Parts: sequence; structure tokens; C-alpha cells
Amino acid sequence: MDNLESIQNNVLNIMEESQKKYLWGSNHKRLNTWHVSDFISECLRKTQYSKTHPSKFDPSKAKIFWLGHVIHAALPLAKLNEVQMCYNIQTEQGLTAQEVEARPLDELGSVITGTLDDLIPLGNGEWCIADKKTYSGGGWFKKTEPDASYRLQLDIYRVLLQATLGIDAKHGCLLYLDKKSDMAPTPIAFDLAPIEQTKAKMRDILTELQSGDATANPCWLCNQSNKKKVVYCDYKDICMSEKPEAHPPQEPEEEKLKVTIDKK
Ligand code: SF4
Repeated sequence: MDNLESIQNNVLNIMEESQKKYLWGSNHKRLNTWHVSDFISECLRKTQYSKTHPSKFDPSKAKIFWLGHVIHAALPLAKLNEVQMCYNIQTEQGLTAQEVEARPLDELGSVITGTLDDLIPLGNGEWCIADKKTYSGGGWFKKTEPDASYRLQLDIYRVLLQATLGIDAKHGCLLYLDKKSDMAPTPIAFDLAPIEQTKAKMRDILTELQSGDATANPCWLCNQSNKKKVVYCDYKDICMSEKPEAHPPQEPEEEKLKVTIDKK
């Protein structure tokens, strides 16, 4: 039995190593700029902390990212996929990754980088930016609306795409894949926001991030309103000491229930 157990452990170790190698090998070199993911977080203060208190990547989280990478590599939806785009929010100029790499660090404070999944031609010169997203629906919960942050992500891609490749994609489509239901696909298409409107939003977000005192927005990232009471923000301790007013003590669940019953 001991022997069989050690074989199992060995196979498991090999698999985990292989996952890590795949992940490191398939990673784009990360440019020293803002990234679209920084701008679409529900809490910009979390983005701010991720820059002022950078944490090392936790290898135990490799398997979470692995599935996403496998899906993206195995499921290209268009000839133009994994398109990396860089853009200066202040000058409104598109840049190549090489141009960004050649610039000194202090010139990159208003540059943002994003990589869109797929650019799908719709005919008649129309384009759609598609992005794949996994979620845990379990078959009983199906996405019917695009998440606001993902919607903003595609709006921003529209700006970057127009500035870098001169293509104006007026439509977006999120392809949700349910991890708990054999990757059941749910595509949700929508019209992207006008470019000028998104540019203004990007300028506002940049100003807030550069202020050094971005708004703390307690939300699903830190309010533990999930079954396992998980905190998804690594910076909750710092945030609670710097912004205690954003984290008033929460009423215990039993008290909330009691008040509701009493009111009835
Ligand atoms: S703890 Fe909450 S409010 Fe504070 S930075 Fe994290 S997500 Fe934002």
C-alpha cells in the first residue's frame, strides 16, 4: 500500500510540476505598465495596494490559472487572437510592446496594456471582440447578463484596438463557460460603449489610481458573503487599518435574522 501511495504522490508531483512549467512557458512577458485588469477591479484601492505592496506569485495558485490558460490555448475563435495592445491614456497614442520596452520607466505611468482573446470579423467591416470567462454555475445558475467589470474590460479593449490597429469593434461578446457543468457555453453579446466615453472613464480611473488614495469599495472581494467566508483581497488588513471607516463592524447573521423576524 505504501508503494502504491508513493506512486500516486509521484504522479501528482509530476502533474503539478508540468502545470507550472506550462504556465510559466505560456505567459506573455508582463510589461511594466498598467494592465486592463487593474482598471476593471471592483475596488480600485485593491489595485493601488497591489502596486504599493506587490506580493510574490503563490505557486499553489498555479492550478487556478492553468485551466484558464488551457482553454485559451485550445479554443481560438478567430485568426486574430491573443492580440496584445498598448496605449497611452494621456496622449491617446497606441504603442507596440517593443516601443513600450524602449521607454524609460517614468514615462510609462499613463500607459496601459491589454490582450484581447479573439477579434471576430462579422462581415461588412464590422468586428466583435470576444473574451472567454469561466465560472461556477453548477448547471442551476446560468449567466444572462455580462458582468459589469468584464463589460468595461471589452469597452477598454475597443479603445486600445482602435488606437493600435485602427480597427473599431462596435460589438463585444463574453463566452461564459460553466466549470461545474462540462464547460457548458453561454455567449452574451452586447454593444460596446462609445470610444470617447470609455476614454473619459479611463482618464478618471488613472487619476484616482495616481492620487495614492483610491476609494475603498468593500464588495465581494472582502465582505466574505460567500459560503466558505473566503476573503479574496490580500490587502484587507492594511485596508482596515488605513480605512477603518470603510469597514464598519458587521452585524452577526443571527442578529440580522432576528430583526427581520421581529419586524414581521
Ligand atoms: S479590503 Fe475591500 S475595500 Fe479594502 S482594498 Fe480590499 S477589496 Fe478594497
